[in-house]
Amino acid sequence: MEYRGNPVSHGIAIGDVYLYTPFQAEITEKTIGTDEIEAAVQAYFDLRTKAQAELAMIQEKLQAGSPDKAKIFAAHVDMLLDAAVNGEIETLIRDAHLSPECAIERGYSKFIRLFSKAKVLQIRERAADLRDLKTRLHRIWAGVPERNLSALEKEVIIAAHDLLPSDTATLDRSKVLGIVTEIGGRTSHSAIIARSYEIPAILGVPNIMAALRDGERVILDAVEGVLYTSPDEAACAHYAEKRGAYLAHAAELKQYRSAVPVTRDGVPIEVHLNMGSADPDELSGSLYTDGVGLFRTEFMYLSSPSLPTEEEQFQAYRKVALEFGQRPVILRTLDIGGDKQLESMELPREDNPFLGLRALRLCFENLPLFQAQLRAVFRAACYGNLWLMLPMVGSLDDIRAAKAVIEEVKEALRQEGITHNPDIPVGIMIEIPAIALVAELAAEEVDFASIGTNDLCQYLMAVDRLNPAVANYYQSYHPAMFRLIGQTVSAFSAAGKSIGVCGELGGDPLAAAVLIGLGMRKLSMGISSVPGIKKLITGLTIPQAEALAKQVMSCATADEVEQCLRAELGTALPAV
Ligand code: PEP
Ligand code: MG
Repeated sequence: MEYRGNPVSHGIAIGDVYLYTPFQAEITEKTIGTDEIEAAVQAYFDLRTKAQAELAMIQEKLQAGSPDKAKIFAAHVDMLLDAAVNGEIETLIRDAHLSPECAIERGYSKFIRLFSKAKVLQIRERAADLRDLKTRLHRIWAGVPERNLSALEKEVIIAAHDLLPSDTATLDRSKVLGIVTEIGGRTSHSAIIARSYEIPAILGVPNIMAALRDGERVILDAVEGVLYTSPDEAACAHYAEKRGAYLAHAAELKQYRSAVPVTRDGVPIEVHLNMGSADPDELSGSLYTDGVGLFRTEFMYLSSPSLPTEEEQFQAYRKVALEFGQRPVILRTLDIGGDKQLESMELPREDNPFLGLRALRLCFENLPLFQAQLRAVFRAACYGNLWLMLPMVGSLDDIRAAKAVIEEVKEALRQEGITHNPDIPVGIMIEIPAIALVAELAAEEVDFASIGTNDLCQYLMAVDRLNPAVANYYQSYHPAMFRLIGQTVSAFSAAGKSIGVCGELGGDPLAAAVLIGLGMRKLSMGISSVPGIKKLITGLTIPQAEALAKQVMSCATADEVEQCLRAELGTALPAV
């Protein structure tokens, strides 16, 4: 059988399926008789012992490679054995005659509610740990084995309804041959991560979970966007060959990674890196890029069950600053909410999270969180060329409010006598159309801007960037996108302020040609897009790009734009 989806991270994989379904408990209220109480209490104790053994095993696995993560599971053991929680559960079994699973549900929920309301951030974080533990206990009670992407036993192709950023951030990339999910599109975060890890991925394959069996062999062709089940030997051999050819071609293209990005008529275009951690793998992108155009700082938060401290953030930012030296490193402040939920902190449930309390808005509501990050940034700024960028800015009010917090943080650091560098550029992401439309006013208030085309498209087209049902409406090549980007570039350039692109369009050779034609001289992208973009730049002239941009502006639809670009650029484009 063949199943089609969106090939968001190119490549080919042949391997066994690992069905990933995070466990969801369904608990119905159940009481027990007086004669069953002792057995129920004992059953709870036994369950707790099993959970403790599981946690010890995870800790042991993580100890060598990720001691910090191992510590988190040690803390989970402490919570599992906590006297107050256990006393509550035992009372619920003995006095309220609740079955063990109901007592766990009610007992843990009580503490989760209490902790979620705490004023102190560190206590609020404990709510997420308790939720995690509650799920572990329910899962063991239901006899379901643990599914954990950070501790895979062998190489697999992961199939999931969706992968949350916290799943992708923690997955053991050395064991993941490919990814297929039921929802998500090119700009969802699982796609961005898959591309940066160079893991072939097809997203948005409806109902694929029901069609697959755990452990069955499949072929994932993430060039064409097809997943083949029950392949025979001939098909496996054919795709093994195709995979070889793909890898050889990708290796050839990779030679462009080190090219100097100057157009054929001698205009330099800066190529910057999008990154999500200070891990050595990601830092190695420094060899091929002019700086960091987007450091998604929230990934540090997503990959950890507890909030990173100011010190941990400082260390990470300092590492990136030192690695890039005088080259600019744009640190984007926390962009959580939307599709990025934190394990380590309770966020409000919203009907429209992408339109809700996201990014800067959430930071305004959680000032200690924001302040800790800003402190880490200003401290790390002593070690390199750090720039600070605010996400989800919709108005000048947002800019002014954020700048007020920034000033307070600097003043506090000064008064505390803490070494820091207060003089760093402060800029904004242009991803809400409203701010793009007042770009010339925004340019007066900030030092730079970077266009987040992923969200700009989502908000301009009124299309959820994750929902495959409306993927056809998510048209990044819509002429309106290029018109709005063109206006923004002109406004910032006229004000003499730096402007770049850090959304996925910046790493898409077709679109990049238009962006250059619109006056953009700074593109930022995941490392896997660097060779293709450098190939494009070195084959292009500015008049050619300007003519393209002009043509695109007069197109009526996204399809027309794409056809026009393919016709004009054909041979300049990378083939993979
Ligand atoms: C964007 O919106 O284009 C962007 C770069 O930010 P993110 O994809 O992290 O939302
Ligand atoms: Mg964005």
